[in-house]
Amino acid sequence: MNCYECVQQGRSEVAVAVCYVCGAAVCVDHVRAESKLLRGPASPGKVIRDWPARQLTCPVCRAAEESP
Ligand SMILES: [Zn+2]
Ligand SMILES: [Zn+2]
Repeated sequence: MNCYECVQQGRSEVAVAVCYVCGAAVCVDHVRAESKLLRGPASPGKVIRDWPARQLTCPVCRAAEESP
């Protein structure tokens, strides 16, 4: 699969990730990796933990998330 962003610019680059928002495949130059804390499931007698998770997005969805 090729990078969606690169294809739109007339180039072809092998995609290394998939945007979790829109599902577009993006290359290493276009992927935006972000670590986010996800709250783990609370089970009886255990402390709720925040798990560091990874979110991979394309530039478009990253810009949309950062815009107010
Ligand atoms: Zn690309
Ligand atoms: Zn996206």
